[in-house]
Amino acid sequence: MEPVNAPPYALPADSSAPVDDPLSEGDGNSLIADIAISPQCNIRLFGAGEMVFAEGSSADKAYIIESGYVEIFVGFDDNTVQLNMLGPGDIFGEMGIVDASPRSASARAICPCRCIIVLAAQVAERIESSAPMVRLLISMSLHRNRAYNTYLRNLAHPIGGLPSPAETEKVYTQSQQYQQILADIKLESDLQNAVQNDELSLVYQPLLNLSTRRIIGFESLLRWQCPRRGMVSPQQFIALAEETSLILPMGDWILERSCADLRQFQEYLNGLDQGCRDFFISINISVRQFQQPDFFDRLLACTQRQGVNAQHLKLEVTERIFLDEIGAIHSIDKCRAAGFEVSLDDFGTGYSSLNYLERCEIDCLKIDRSFINKLCSSDRAQILVGSIIDIARKLGLPTVAEGIETQAQMDTLRSLGCDIGQGFLFSHPLPLPEALALLAAEPAIAL
Ligand code: C2E
Ligand code: CA
Ligand code: CA
Repeated sequence: MEPVNAPPYALPADSSAPVDDPLSEGDGNSLIADIAISPQCNIRLFGAGEMVFAEGSSADKAYIIESGYVEIFVGFDDNTVQLNMLGPGDIFGEMGIVDASPRSASARAICPCRCIIVLAAQVAERIESSAPMVRLLISMSLHRNRAYNTYLRNLAHPIGGLPSPAETEKVYTQSQQYQQILADIKLESDLQNAVQNDELSLVYQPLLNLSTRRIIGFESLLRWQCPRRGMVSPQQFIALAEETSLILPMGDWILERSCADLRQFQEYLNGLDQGCRDFFISINISVRQFQQPDFFDRLLACTQRQGVNAQHLKLEVTERIFLDEIGAIHSIDKCRAAGFEVSLDDFGTGYSSLNYLERCEIDCLKIDRSFINKLCSSDRAQILVGSIIDIARKLGLPTVAEGIETQAQMDTLRSLGCDIGQGFLFSHPLPLPEALALLAAEPAIAL
């Protein structure tokens, strides 16, 4: 184990960074202070002999050398081992900002140095959202590096009983973190086969007009029948598919299948003599899928191939698409102009749902299941749901409540003025033939 606190010997008195420098190493300043600085302040100068950081100190930034040389070493006093001498273009201090571990070596400028600062906050999100394989490669090489540093430090300044690098690695590969990454990689590999081997399917859950209790459309929901794992719910694999881009071929398949099934619904309704003027299928569109530059063209091409009209398809997006706000608003406008309705899914769970309502025109709000869950047990949930419905009504938007499981929840939602409902109370998601049968059997679900 590496020491967690900076050893007092590591920072000579004359080399401590100025306390008013928001980027000074180990100064305890929060990330907020770091982020608040202007981009021009991301440069730090070090004098000859100045310590940049000390072994054991906490790490919240890395450095890229613009000019000068920096020595990386382990140990202290006369008992040090130089690990590396770095010059212009080299990066150092990167290990700690990747996994937030304390510094496993010290760094000292050996002549005046000018360094670009890379903040932990700049990389943390990118690493977390990277594919499991990338996370595995990063974490494994970090770990090996650290074990090697510890080994060298021990040569310079022996402490008995330290494990060898191989033993350290064994402990790491048995850790929960490593096992989780490995499990994700296996899931990814299985998921790759799923797309190729036709293991995906769609199920359909009805949406009801809460006043008439008639089915007005269905939401298509993805399922994966994995030969090794059995039926896997999207909660277990959609996030991974998003991280790895597998969501793109999956998304294309979902669009194609949903449109083809929409045609079947329409033919069936025509056969039942019920007509299908307003009947729709609501399709979940993932962030990555929606952000593809040619998403709209793919969508349009798919509807044309399958012979269905835009007004019979709703696109369900979450507010995460607004991470690229300008792009998202442009794409939503384009879809709406072509006749596709856009619903904001999981409404109320994000940070700034209301913000986006002000900036972007959409067609429908889906109130998240977590609110409906507590509707009858929490006054606060009821106030929030009532307020969301009021806001939506004032904006001229219909509301959908998802996850309705009890009669009491449905009654409350109706009294609050919610327009559309979905949930196990009416029906679980069903394979297409059963969804068709539900339409035929019960045009108005008796509740
Ligand atoms: P979502 O879009 O919010 O879908 C609603 C989820 O709530 C579905 O879970 C549905 O089965 C579940 N649900 C519906 N009524 C009830 C209820 O009364 N009680 C409870 N406890 N649950 C209910 P599912 O099918 O497991 O999907 C989970 C999430 O996975 C979806 O949440 C959506 O974000 C994503 N997803 C599902 N299918 C697709 C898809 O085709 N494409 C994309 N991009 N995402 C999908
Ligand atoms: Ca949805
Ligand atoms: Ca939802």
